Amino acid sequence: MPKIELPQRIVEGKFFASLKHKVIDSGICSHCGACSAICPAYGIVVDPSKPIDFPNWEEDCLDCGLCVRICPRWDYKPKSGLGEYLEIFSAKSRRFKGQDGGIATEILATALEEGTIDRAVVVARDENWYPTAITVTKPKQLERASGTKYSFAPLMVELRKAVFRSKKGVGFVGTPCMISGLRRLQIVKSFRKVKIAVGLFCMENFYYDQLVKFLADRGINIADAVRIGISKGKFVVKLDDGVKSFPVKELNPIVPSGCKVCEDFTAVESDISVGSVGSPEGFSTVIVRTEVGKEIAEKIKERCEIGDVNLKVVEKLCELKKKKG
Ligand SMILES: Cc1cc2nc3c(=O)[nH]c(=O)nc-3n(C[C@H](O)[C@H](O)[C@H](O)COP(=O)(O)OP(=O)(O)OC[C@H]3O[C@@H](n4cnc5c(N)ncnc54)[C@H](O)[C@@H]3O)c2cc1C
Repeated sequence: MPKIELPQRIVEGKFFASLKHKVIDSGICSHCGACSAICPAYGIVVDPSKPIDFPNWEEDCLDCGLCVRICPRWDYKPKSGLGEYLEIFSAKSRRFKGQDGGIATEILATALEEGTIDRAVVVARDENWYPTAITVTKPKQLERASGTKYSFAPLMVELRKAVFRSKKGVGFVGTPCMISGLRRLQIVKSFRKVKIAVGLFCMENFYYDQLVKFLADRGINIADAVRIGISKGKFVVKLDDGVKSFPVKELNPIVPSGCKVCEDFTAVESDISVGSVGSPEGFSTVIVRTEVGKEIAEKIKERCEIGDVNLKVVEKLCELKKKKG
């Protein structure tokens, strides 16, 4: 585990003032929410529609500096590319329907069944696609979280509860920034209870309210969406009575500034990464990185349909994200 020293304050006042100045107000915060999971004052708020905040920090911040120590954007050294890996393949679950191959769900279900973990922290949504973090303990319950929600989810606060309650281990799924946040959190023993970290490929995420407005401006009520996805440069919304799509670049004005500095497309710090790019429709691309990831991958290969990956396309997207960063 890397030792992370307490950094110097860069502005006067409690440590949160320095985090706010250097990371949040400067616009490089990724909204991973790791700070909310570590704050002993329980004061840091992760709202899917707003930048990270600590209302009343002047009074309530305990000035421990932990938020600064674990923030992956404080001394940000962007990671990029495919990262280190043991194996790459394409897969489709036979039992779970997902955004692509249902493999993020399959991985966690397998980890629960194998006893590697006793709970998993995942992202569900309501009928308006508002993302919520939930903890599940049974494979069937994972179905509530399948599918991609294109907005920031308050996963880390839920993770904090899950690691305290878990006896065997916790499964976690998140975007690349969240996986980086998790790795920093793991300087604290309780967060080492996360036994399997599933990273999702990600080009960008959105503030919930801004995404809702973007769609409303184009005549779409988000509540009518059956599926939302990005495919071949198009943002595609499937409705009950048809499909509407827009060039992804139309979303540029609402891409959060913290996503614009990110170069990590494949979640290089995960145990196992899952994405859509590089696989045929209905399949997920799977990048196995660690021994834990490999153990689960061997099991899911016995249960899933397996295919080949077009690695060139994945590498192209890695390059694109790096250039954007
Ligand atoms: C914001 C975002 C942007 C993405 N961009 C790309 C991209 O550009 N290219 C690409 O190839 N793939 C991208 N992905 C990944 C892709 O959409 C699928 O999540 C991935 O292929 C896994 O599909 P699946 O069927 O295996 O997952 P499923 O079995 O459907 O499981 C989906 C998992 O995603 C988790 N999840 C859903 N929404 C969120 C969220 N907002 N934050 C954290 N976790 C969440 C759920 O907890 C669930 O465990 C993105 C995902 C997200 C969340």
